[in-house]
Amino acid sequence: MSGSDKANVKTKLSQIEALLLPYNLKYLKKQQLYALVNSIRQALSSDTGAEVTPESVADFLSPCVQVFYHAMDSQRMCGMLIKNAYPQVSPLIINARHSPQAQRFTLSHEIIHYLIHPDRNYLCDTGDARSSLEWQANEGAAELLLPYRIFIPQLCAYIQSVNRHTGGHKPSSTELLLPYAQKYGVTLTTLQNRLTGLRYEIDQYMSGCPLESLEFLSEAELTRRCIHVKPLFFSV
Ligand SMILES: [Zn+2]
Repeated sequence: MSGSDKANVKTKLSQIEALLLPYNLKYLKKQQLYALVNSIRQALSSDTGAEVTPESVADFLSPCVQVFYHAMDSQRMCGMLIKNAYPQVSPLIINARHSPQAQRFTLSHEIIHYLIHPDRNYLCDTGDARSSLEWQANEGAAELLLPYRIFIPQLCAYIQSVNRHTGGHKPSSTELLLPYAQKYGVTLTTLQNRLTGLRYEIDQYMSGCPLESLEFLSEAELTRRCIHVKPLFFSV
């Protein structure tokens, strides 16, 4: 998706805008958010069929989104997006103090703001999911980096296989997850958050429910329905 001109990007952004129409962003449920992210992924990959990553999306959007890396004073600050501050140009700034893997998550997070959220400034903190837009940017970023359709079956198979070959030694969650996190270029924290965020869905999958029939529930919905599920690595 390199070498895109502005006209090409504008056409694709119009297609993405059309994808947003059926959704009410104020009350977006987890399953709807994932469906939206995956529709956007399909729209962005349809020309080349190449894998869609935060880097490839940023590259494609580069005439309209300018990515800068800057060592910010605050370690807590991950990044910021000034969406359409100038005519058709949005500066996206990433905190260069963070690890390359953490910066990838921030890039993914800010791209979700750019693609689905209204024009305004976004100043993003580590772990800030208080507003629904920040929750959507975090969940959407995780789905862009680690799509559940690949992540859930692959990670379940991986952990079962590791457990089968470790004899009496019970590996710690870090021992289990670090190689996987390194392979996919994400931090251990991102991977653990993904496992925790998908623990209800993973539990259904491990009980034999096919991917297409999974029920997706956010933390708020799990709490409201009094559903308690431990993350996967506590139960294997
Ligand atoms: Zn944000």
